[in-house]
Amino acid sequence: MAQLGGSPIIIMREGTERTRGKDAMENNIAAAKVIAEAVRTSLGPRGMDKMLVDQFGDVVITNDGATILKEIDVQHPAAKMMVEVAKTQDSEVGDGTTTSVILAGELLKRAEKLLKQKIHPTVITEGFRKAAEKAIEILEEMSIKSGIDDTVGLKNSAMTCMSSKIVSESRDMLADICISAIKAIAEKGEDGKWVADIDKVQIQKKEGESIDETSLIKGIILDKEVVSPGMPKIAQDAKVLLLQSAIEIEKTEFDAKLQITSPEQIQQFLDEEERMLRNMVDKIVNSGAKVVVCQKGIDDMAQHFLSKAGIMAIRRVKKSDIEKLSKATGGMIYTNLNDITPEKLGFAGLVEERKIMNDSWIFIEKCKDPKSVVILIRGGTELIIDEAERAIHDALCVTRDVVEDEKIVGGGGAPEIEAAIQLRKYAQTLGGREQLAVEVFADALDIVPKTLAENAGLDQIDVLMKLRAAHQAGNKFAGHDLETGDIINDMAAIGVVEPTIVKIQAIKSSTEAASMILRIDDVIAGAKSAGPPGGMPPGMGGGMPPGMGMPGMGGMPPGMM
Ligand code: ADP
Ligand code: MG
Repeated sequence: MAQLGGSPIIIMREGTERTRGKDAMENNIAAAKVIAEAVRTSLGPRGMDKMLVDQFGDVVITNDGATILKEIDVQHPAAKMMVEVAKTQDSEVGDGTTTSVILAGELLKRAEKLLKQKIHPTVITEGFRKAAEKAIEILEEMSIKSGIDDTVGLKNSAMTCMSSKIVSESRDMLADICISAIKAIAEKGEDGKWVADIDKVQIQKKEGESIDETSLIKGIILDKEVVSPGMPKIAQDAKVLLLQSAIEIEKTEFDAKLQITSPEQIQQFLDEEERMLRNMVDKIVNSGAKVVVCQKGIDDMAQHFLSKAGIMAIRRVKKSDIEKLSKATGGMIYTNLNDITPEKLGFAGLVEERKIMNDSWIFIEKCKDPKSVVILIRGGTELIIDEAERAIHDALCVTRDVVEDEKIVGGGGAPEIEAAIQLRKYAQTLGGREQLAVEVFADALDIVPKTLAENAGLDQIDVLMKLRAAHQAGNKFAGHDLETGDIINDMAAIGVVEPTIVKIQAIKSSTEAASMILRIDDVIAGAKSAGPPGGMPPGMGGGMPPGMGMPGMGGMPPGMM
């Protein structure tokens, strides 16, 4: 098409870059491998941490695969797909991000060898698809039943997930906090299945003290203080009024001028203002509310009257917080003081102002709805608090995974080794080139125990051989305990367990990404610079620049007629 009767037809805009066939594939695989390589050393409890510095000099220290990839600014399109693997893994199950990326990298590395043996990419991806399906079956099959009532299983899953984090020293108490939080917000659906929405667990961070001072508050925290020092700092069994409007005299919409001619008139004005404010406060007092949470301001005079009535008031609270409070306390949000009805006020067993470091915070606890919980993270520095937050996020996700999916497997490389062994047997039932692809998939799974061993400074092959032997002898959860360095016949028995769904999702997301990258044989990158955003212009126009003919664009090569 490029050359008809001697005049070239321009298909792509000037400056468009195109890599095709083998080159494109090799490029993509190389980029993906670089990403996998970048996170490899951080896998497992003996993994190293990364210090990431952004363009503004802000520092993040982490061991979390998803965070590492989020922080580095990746340019290559195939590398970006690897970053997506981590993101998908994180949003679906919340853990196993490093594993999924390493697995995708290893799948591609091994697929490359098949490509060199002239096996077509679609044969490889089809083999991978079959292998992934089978591996998922195998994982389901080997799982142990767990769930919300399995206290030990929940605790062990949360502890295992945090053992690879910087804050792992405190993982015992953090695990307890996460489990209590998830148990508080979990709901049993009509079908008898548990659902836990981790967005219902609020996270608050405050520098100071240490990680071990991190606590779970059943209720809500407001980063505010009681508006006037004369008010009570604590209220028990309190009716709570949630107010969207201000407790102030409203300004009129239009300007009006008033001529005041005598001092008495000023007094009259002030008296009238006071009367109006007193009137407003009376309405609150009569409703029986002991606490007022107001989204807007509260006039000084009103504050004075509220203090005298022994009412605690908090002002300028965020709308979103008021909404959360409405859910937690069961109170209606009022916009007009005239509408207040005592039965629609919220209820909290305890409202208290507490000092944390130099700031005062309001704790609203023992609410009507016990499903509101906050984890208040403490820690010496911001870096530690942020890493603790990531660890807590992972632990919350893992606990949710176990509560919802009710299945766990032993960790420390055990499920990967077992799945690999069974996959190799399955491969033999296939035959042909597909068999090769499934075998390659099985070999790729070994990367998990191999990397765990490598990061602990041990000999990969040695560990792999010992593990395989243990599995052949019938120990499906034989793994490598990285705390002691021993090979253990049952990782679950020593409490190293993970949610099955984390392992399954890692296989799903890595296979998907690897297959997608393998199917690409043409990379067309639009010219950067002028023109409409989005790279290739719809018009495909552009003048013919010298030497910009597209060689090999399907034009008949000479001598082919
Ligand atoms: P990911 O981002 O993939 O979750 P991690 O750095 O959290 O990566 O490491 C998870 C891996 O570490 C899992 O394979 C898990 O089984 C393993 N692991 C965790 N604790 C232990 C332990 N005590 N002994 C052996 N392996 C462990
Ligand atoms: Mg993890």
